[in-house]
Amino acid sequence: MDKILSKSKYLAGLQCLKYLWQLVNEPDSIPPFDDATQFRFKQGHEVGKLAKSLFPDGIEIGYCKDIKTELEKARRLTYPRENHFGRKPLFEVPFTYKNSFAIADILEPGGKDWWNIIEVKAASSIKDINMHDAAFQRYCYDGAGLEIDKFFLMYLNRDFEKDGTIDPSNFFIKEDVTKQTEKLMGAIEEKIETMLDAIRAKNCPEIEISENCYKPYTCPLKDSCWRNLPDNSVFELYRGKRLAFSFYKKGITRISDIHDTAVLNPIQSIQHKTIKENNLFVDSKSLDAFLRKLRYPLYFLDFETFSMAIPLFDGVRPYQNIPFQFSCHIIESPGSKTKNLYFLADNDGKDPRPVFLSNLKEALGYNKTNSTPDPSGSILVYYESFEKTILKELSRAFPEHRYWIGQAVGRIIDLYEPFGKFYYYNSEQKGSASLKTVLPALTGISYDDMEIKNGSQASLMYLKMAFLKEGSTQDCAEAEKIKKDLVDYCGLDTEGMIFILKELYNLVDGE
Ligand code: SF4
Repeated sequence: MDKILSKSKYLAGLQCLKYLWQLVNEPDSIPPFDDATQFRFKQGHEVGKLAKSLFPDGIEIGYCKDIKTELEKARRLTYPRENHFGRKPLFEVPFTYKNSFAIADILEPGGKDWWNIIEVKAASSIKDINMHDAAFQRYCYDGAGLEIDKFFLMYLNRDFEKDGTIDPSNFFIKEDVTKQTEKLMGAIEEKIETMLDAIRAKNCPEIEISENCYKPYTCPLKDSCWRNLPDNSVFELYRGKRLAFSFYKKGITRISDIHDTAVLNPIQSIQHKTIKENNLFVDSKSLDAFLRKLRYPLYFLDFETFSMAIPLFDGVRPYQNIPFQFSCHIIESPGSKTKNLYFLADNDGKDPRPVFLSNLKEALGYNKTNSTPDPSGSILVYYESFEKTILKELSRAFPEHRYWIGQAVGRIIDLYEPFGKFYYYNSEQKGSASLKTVLPALTGISYDDMEIKNGSQASLMYLKMAFLKEGSTQDCAEAEKIKKDLVDYCGLDTEGMIFILKELYNLVDGE
């Protein structure tokens, strides 16, 4: 049977013909979608349902017994002379042309006997790739003989704030992209032919790694295609992907093999020096200046959040981060015992922010009366823009907390600074300054044995727990297990910061 190019395969082919070939001919070689991606798809489905509610008399075409029935139904309903139902909006409408196949989210009756195509995106902005997606659809529908008036992308209004039941007419932005898609139509048939030739070939095309491996999305085959790169490869150069590819094309794959160091920026030069010398770089003076900014008691703070395309609570925007958990380790004075305070929202389906805030206020301290001084002590976080943004959004949503939140924000010190600015670098960090790479590189402690290993897994587990029904013994046991894993995970983030800080003090004091 001859090969067919669907929209998702066309987009894969734009990224890389090797990826496309594997997707079509050896689909088992593509790693399965992870939980975060599947959750994104699920949210996309919910957004699609909400968009369809804008067309209450719409007719669903997809999900028939088989694709032949769906194609026939689409043909009957879109060809005016054969349509005895009148022209109504249509959902999930499939069309084929030559060897291409696409499904329109929504067809809306347009001018004369023409149709408007509406493609729904669960995103709050449009990217270039969406235009290619739209152009491919136009190619299929035009070719199949559908009279197209306009092409719209419908995406989330980032300024929308939930206030009671969601009104989809305010929730979505509908943007006319007819002209942009027309510009891409000229080259599309040739691209499709090239892709069809590639997937009909017996062997997978040989394709070198390139910037396409992570643009517009990280390719699912990246681990496999990049596995032969050596340790300390040029791709570990900090924010240096383009430079790395220029070395790679000249056959230079190791940082240690770079001779023309004039092209490296100061941070990349530190990486080069570190690898050439003893794998460790310490700028004691800058580290010392950073450590001198800290004031006891020290608070080590970390938030966990979740976000949904369709907001769950009033006053919340699409994809706004909602904090549901924090961990706070406190050291009152040098040498004193560490105290851990933490909060994890209940799985009761309620907005966790009010209880989160009252617990956080107690943990960080606040000015109880006008006669007591404002609380002091540095609040250490790792990558301050995240925690600061959450706190500022909380302050906006709950103005009664504005004063103490403002105080807390003023006390924040970013433990990322010594690593992001490379006062310390260890080649085991592989060019990264994230907590998940710095902690093991500096202390040998890692997240490998944790049930929850990263923030996106934490938010998915919380959402799973929050929607588990209370009552069944199995659900209760599962919820308890998730709670424990979440507390352990967030606790390691803040305890890890203490270990890191101790190492930094040792480095400075040991000089
Ligand atoms: S990782 Fe890169 S080279 Fe490999 S299939 Fe993907 S885009 Fe192509």
